[in-house]
Amino acid sequence: MTHRVLILPGDHIGPEIVAEAVKVFHCLGSEFGLSVELEYANLGGCAVDAEGSPLPASTRDLAAQADAILLGAVGGPEWDSLPREQRPERGLLGIRAELGLFANLRPAILFPELAAASSLRTEVVSGLDILIVRELTGGIYFGQPRGIRERPDGVREGFNTLVYGADEIERIGRAAFEAAERRGGALCSVDKANVLESSELWREVMTGLQADYPSVSLDHLYVDNAAMQLVRAPRQFDVMVTGNLFGDILSDCAAMLTGSIGMLPSASLDDRHRGLYEPVHGSAPDIAGQARANPLATILSVAMMLRHSLGESDLAGRVETAVGQVLADGLRTADLAGPTERAVSTSEMGDAVVSALKSQAG
Ligand code: NAD
Repeated sequence: MTHRVLILPGDHIGPEIVAEAVKVFHCLGSEFGLSVELEYANLGGCAVDAEGSPLPASTRDLAAQADAILLGAVGGPEWDSLPREQRPERGLLGIRAELGLFANLRPAILFPELAAASSLRTEVVSGLDILIVRELTGGIYFGQPRGIRERPDGVREGFNTLVYGADEIERIGRAAFEAAERRGGALCSVDKANVLESSELWREVMTGLQADYPSVSLDHLYVDNAAMQLVRAPRQFDVMVTGNLFGDILSDCAAMLTGSIGMLPSASLDDRHRGLYEPVHGSAPDIAGQARANPLATILSVAMMLRHSLGESDLAGRVETAVGQVLADGLRTADLAGPTERAVSTSEMGDAVVSALKSQAG
């Protein structure tokens, strides 16, 4: 079966890091028989410049037909003064909404060689491997009514609505239980059920789902305690599932435990396992064109795509092993290199991952 993958290089370092991920696809094809058809389209600032819209109709059409999408990153100062609808981020938000990508998967994995880069002590974080599953299309970021209004006493007030339907909770819950089944079998649901009714329902639905996943253990934490535990003893977690707002905050907190933003992949999935895969970081205009960008978050996003959308878990593991290998061999891009270490370029890092993959093929 040939997988259709849409590549959206995006802006600034986006094309540089995506080029290295494409090398990995080619290597998986030639060495391991992966059959993949790569198509390319514009999203973000480059799409504004080339086609007058951050999410052109041609990109939309290709995205709707793809099995999975790989995005570099979008945005940059040159588009910041455009009207809101024309800004690069609107392209990204638009594609997420259009494809119904409700499940955001953010792993926080600490490669042992990078333990010193973490904000926590090595003994607290070494071996860290957490997956945070965040609901992405509901909750307080989208709830109605919302706005800023004037109270009868003349004072202005801002208001938002935190609402979750049982159906929305169930589908993100199932995505998280399934992820936990594929991993360590432990799921922690994070809410604020002692204060919020939306969380009360969240907890009830999550608890009800457990019967369908007998191999997964489920427990619950209030979000304040979850934040504390993440920085106190993060290795206790396997998979965490939570709503949009709590997930936004907790996933960034977990990201910092791993040290470098250049190492973190992510996935946003629909209910048929189609997804958009992208590094967590942005387009890094400050280092664009200097061959200094770390391509590993993008390459690890390819591994996530192989596992979650293309049904190629074995190849996903091979890519992750190859990344571990190049780090163990001492290769570091500038963001990872210590003051006395030589930094390799973006393409040297990509080539090293490809060599490590080839050596697995024997
Ligand atoms: P950023 O993530 O682009 O950069 C933050 C810092 O991290 C910079 O110093 C940068 O050089 C460094 N960095 C980021 N990725 C790196 C990599 N792969 N290798 C080495 N160093 C790396 O965040 P920012 O500077 O706040 O945003 C820049 C632009 O990116 C903005 O226009 C913003 O809107 C956009 N952005 C896009 C996305 C996305 O496409 N998903 C996400 C976040 C920000």
